[in-house]
Amino acid sequence: MKSPFRPAIDALAGYTPGEQPKMTNLVKLNTNENPYPPSPRITEALAGFKMENLHRYPDPTADALRDEIAARYGVKRENVICGNGSDDLLTMVFRSFTAPDRPVAVLDPSYSLYPVLAAMQEAPVIRMPLDPATFELTGDLADLARGANLVMLTRPNAPTGNSLDRNAVERFCAGFDGVVAIDEAYADFADDNCMEFAAKYDNVLVLRTFSKSYSLAGLRLGYAVGNAVLIDGLMKLKDSYNVDMLTQVIGRAAFADTATLQKHTAAIRATKARLNSELEKLGFTIIPSQSNFVFAAPPDGDGERAFAELRRAAVIVRYFPGKVTGRFIRITVGTDAEIDRLLEVLRGVYR
Ligand code: PMP
Repeated sequence: MKSPFRPAIDALAGYTPGEQPKMTNLVKLNTNENPYPPSPRITEALAGFKMENLHRYPDPTADALRDEIAARYGVKRENVICGNGSDDLLTMVFRSFTAPDRPVAVLDPSYSLYPVLAAMQEAPVIRMPLDPATFELTGDLADLARGANLVMLTRPNAPTGNSLDRNAVERFCAGFDGVVAIDEAYADFADDNCMEFAAKYDNVLVLRTFSKSYSLAGLRLGYAVGNAVLIDGLMKLKDSYNVDMLTQVIGRAAFADTATLQKHTAAIRATKARLNSELEKLGFTIIPSQSNFVFAAPPDGDGERAFAELRRAAVIVRYFPGKVTGRFIRITVGTDAEIDRLLEVLRGVYR
């Protein structure tokens, strides 16, 4: 039988998630998970939850959670949508705003899911190249994004960890005639963020996730904030019950616990500072990181070798092949003990 798939789907390689190895005793620093446990308030919230309620469908729009998110950012319920992880929101965004005649502009390098979502829509991708040494913009965003209907700005960026200049982002949002989706998956680890632009500009969506700073990658919860017209449109094409009842309960408990969030993000920032200075002593080139991971190039510029040496010692980091990214490895900031183990292996190779 000839392929029943659309040619665009046949041609698609699909997104490759970071490895979740089954081996025990390894140091897992490859998918930017938080090494600390989620809020203890989750256990209390679940203890108070009547499991018998699961025979009903959940609130399709997660309104209690939306209200709490809206209150924190000084917006209204109609400005917030929740998703099954921010990947779910990204799917909605690409389905809404990209098509064969509606290109998307993405930073290059950036999150490798975006081109996969564009390919599903058969939408052209405009690559906005970052400087291969600094991963800063190589020109004015308005010029780089020309012709796009949707612009993805990942801030802090992944896998590079740095943040685009905030003023440049605001100038661009103010002047751009399409949708700007600012993916702030790592913003809780950063010195600043662009949430304010979601309320200030009609064309801006800001996407956040519970996967990183709230230590809830296994739960699958994210949200987007923006103009009510944009949010209303996204609502039309979301899965009816995209955030289940338990996730709504857990998400609300975690979101309310800002003390745990602050404690863990502060610990990660402190460990990151130590990791940076130790890597520098070994001759690594480091991209200034605003996130919970560090993009670092070993002294010989051979990221694949560093990845392989670490893997041999059961320390798993992420390596992105390619002329520009292949010089680096991406190291998730784990606990102090995990980072000590990584440094011990790297000292054996590079000292
Ligand atoms: N955006 C960026 C930039 C990411 O790195 C990730 C994590 N892979 C996501 C979004 C998705 O996060 P999640 O679906 O776990 O919320």
